[in-house]
Amino acid sequence: MLEIKHTLCPSCSVGCGINVVSHDGDVVGTYPYKRHPVNEGKNCLNGRNSIEVYKNKLSNALVSNSNVDIDKAIDEICSNLKSKDSEKITVFCSGNNSVEDIEAIKDFAEKNNYNIALYADNIVDIDGEVASYEDVEKASKLIVIGDILYTNPLIGRRIIHAKENGANVYSFTPESSVTANVSDEICDSIDDVLNNFGDNLDESSVILFNTVNSSEDLDKIKEISDKANSKILPVFSKCNSKGACDIVKAQSKEDFVELLNGTDLLLVFNDDLIPEIDFDFASISTIVSFVPCENSTSNASQIVVPVKSWLENEGSFVNAMGETQTFDAVIESDALGVDEIIEKIQNKL
Ligand code: SF4
Repeated sequence: MLEIKHTLCPSCSVGCGINVVSHDGDVVGTYPYKRHPVNEGKNCLNGRNSIEVYKNKLSNALVSNSNVDIDKAIDEICSNLKSKDSEKITVFCSGNNSVEDIEAIKDFAEKNNYNIALYADNIVDIDGEVASYEDVEKASKLIVIGDILYTNPLIGRRIIHAKENGANVYSFTPESSVTANVSDEICDSIDDVLNNFGDNLDESSVILFNTVNSSEDLDKIKEISDKANSKILPVFSKCNSKGACDIVKAQSKEDFVELLNGTDLLLVFNDDLIPEIDFDFASISTIVSFVPCENSTSNASQIVVPVKSWLENEGSFVNAMGETQTFDAVIESDALGVDEIIEKIQNKL
């Protein structure tokens, strides 16, 4: 039987709705959800490809590359946890997890005095109100840091609408990038775009960015925005990084690497850190990955535990503009959720 069920796209923090098509319980495609307020039925290629996670699902737990049952993997994790000093154990919770799973991960780390880490595109200390997507669309001037039209196309669409309405767009993005095509001015650095065009901003302007090089960059963005009484919109690469930052303090890349330097046992919940963080992960004696499908980090892990993919999960995300959105499972599954796995581990410690 063909079924269409609504959920949220997990491939960036915009929070687009997406319909998932299944046939006799198997995921076969996506379909526009026309009434969704964020994206009005449109999904970018990354969004449409997000169902691949389900097709490549891990079916077994692994210990030292050998298939084992989940309970054996959990016993192995517990014996590792018991054998290390808690200050050498780091639990990495990612913006790929739901609000509910992040709360479970945080409780687990705090209960056992482990370090808890969150890395969210080098963006730290964002509190208070951020711009809405409507603010972007109605802005008189936009400063865009990063190739947002390429990486987050459904916010890019709002930038194009603003431009059609007469907004000026000043960017720090490569000249060959998609964002460059809609920019009135392109600068060579974050400093340049802020110094050259910060004074042009007014209360209906927005600074959008999807990464920063340092906390100094972020301070400068906030300072320029405050001075002009304009708004900022950090656009994270992971669906629930905004929600994660509301629960766990995000770290800069530098601070995260320093924490990894003192880590002997790393538990990674639902992420692929190796391509993102320039660090010698082989220096950590044990890495445990809890992931729905294999990735570079799980391939380098001594223990791998399969968890529910987003299609099998339910809960809530907080999108880039700070709105909480709930989602339901679109497919039935025997896989365990992050919260269920944590409970199993905690019961054996
Ligand atoms: S813009 Fe982001 S949330 Fe929207 S469909 Fe594309 S990847 Fe998914």
